[in-house]
This record gives sequence, C-alpha cells and structure tokens, in this order.
Amino acid sequence: MIRDSHKQQGNRRKLVALLQEKGIKDKSVLEAIGKVPRHLFLNSAFEEHAYEDRPFAIGAGQTISQPFTVATQSELLQVEKGMKVLEIGTGSGYQAAVLYAMGIKVFSIERIKELYDKTSKLLPKLGYRVKCFYGDGNLGVPTWAPYDRIIITAGAPIVPEGLLGQLKPGGIMVIPVTEGDSETMKTITKQADGSVVVKEHGTFRFVPMLEDKHDLR
Ligand code: SAH
Repeated sequence: MIRDSHKQQGNRRKLVALLQEKGIKDKSVLEAIGKVPRHLFLNSAFEEHAYEDRPFAIGAGQTISQPFTVATQSELLQVEKGMKVLEIGTGSGYQAAVLYAMGIKVFSIERIKELYDKTSKLLPKLGYRVKCFYGDGNLGVPTWAPYDRIIITAGAPIVPEGLLGQLKPGGIMVIPVTEGDSETMKTITKQADGSVVVKEHGTFRFVPMLEDKHDLR
C-alpha cells in the first residue's frame, strides 16, 4: 500500500509552488515533482519534513538531494518522453523516480551496496520501473549505451571521459563539478563531431563522487 495522505499531497503542491517561485519553469518537471511521493524515499523519522526544500541523510553517509537541485538537474536535461537517461548515484531513488514520472527510460547506477540493495527493491514496489545497477558510475553502464542524456548526482572532480563516450551525439550531460568547496552545475552538450559545448548554471552542494574502486562497500 502506498501511503499518501491529503496533508502530504497538500505539502507537495506547496513544494511545487515554491520551486516555481525559485525559477523552475519546465511543466513536465513540476508535474513529476507534484506526483512523486518524496516522503516514501526517506527515513520515516524525517517524513513530516519530506516536502521542505532540504536534503536529508539516507544512510551510508549519503543524502537525498534537495528538491530544487532535483528540479534544476531535471530541467537542464531537456528530455523528451521515451529518451534513455543514465543516472550516476541512485541514492534514495527519488531523482530516478522523478525522471520515470516524466516518461523517461531510466538506468541508474549506485556504488554503495547497502543503498543499491534498498533502492532497487523500493522503486519497483512503488511502481517505478527503473533499471538499477551496482557498480562504479565513473565507468557508466556500457551494456545499455549510448544514452540520450546522462545525469550525475554526486560532486565530480572531473568529467569522466568514459561517460562522455556513452553519450549519443547531440546528447546532454548534466554534471556538478567540484570547484573549491562547492559544485558548479554544468551542462556538456556533445556535438555531432564529438566536440563538446560546456555551459555553467550556478553553484550547488553535493556529496562527493566516490573514486577509488577499492572503496566499494
Ligand atoms: N540521486 C540521488 C542522490 C544521492 S547522493 C537521490 O535522488 O537520492 C549521491 C549518490 O551517489 C550516493 O548514493 C552515492 O553513494 C552515489 N555515488 C557516489 N559515487 C558514485 C560512483 N562513483 N558511482 C555510482 N554512485 C556513486
């Protein structure tokens, strides 16, 4: 049973209004955030705060991203229904669920086993048919490549070369690149000749992307 009370639905509508005030314009993004029950993606201890525009701890030292960050990244992806999107950093599964609700075929990879185990069970239980993988997102998911879009939801020290190779020509990667003690949100558009166009979209905060393969838990 999916628990989604009138109060939670009301709080969700208020969150959507807040995101609009903060500058999110894409209707399909706002609609998806209006539909996905964020309270089911976080620890029940935080449930009553689920529709505040804040990140929360999800275990293993990781966080569910702030709704404004999820909305911004989803908008910057400029998706069309039916596109194939690869997400690096499944975490709670909330971002993946929002993309799924936008009509996207979502592939998502997570590096921490505990989170992969939990979220790969939760998503289908809630009706989100996202393909989940356990492994190092720096290497992408070559089996299902190429992707129309790639979204990275952890702070990346560099743009992983291998990931660019899994992006279709004309495809867009949305990546928070660590610069000092925060992340600069960047879009990287791959041209037909393989060259890239990089644009910046403001400053955000992310947990760092895990680098060392030996760190695998
Ligand atoms: N998209 C998530 C955000 C989670 S925070 C959500 O909506 O909840 C970032 C996530 O990226 C964490 O779960 C972290 O474990 C994961 N991560 C960090 N480095 C990674 C890597 N190299 N490959 C795959 N996942 C990684």
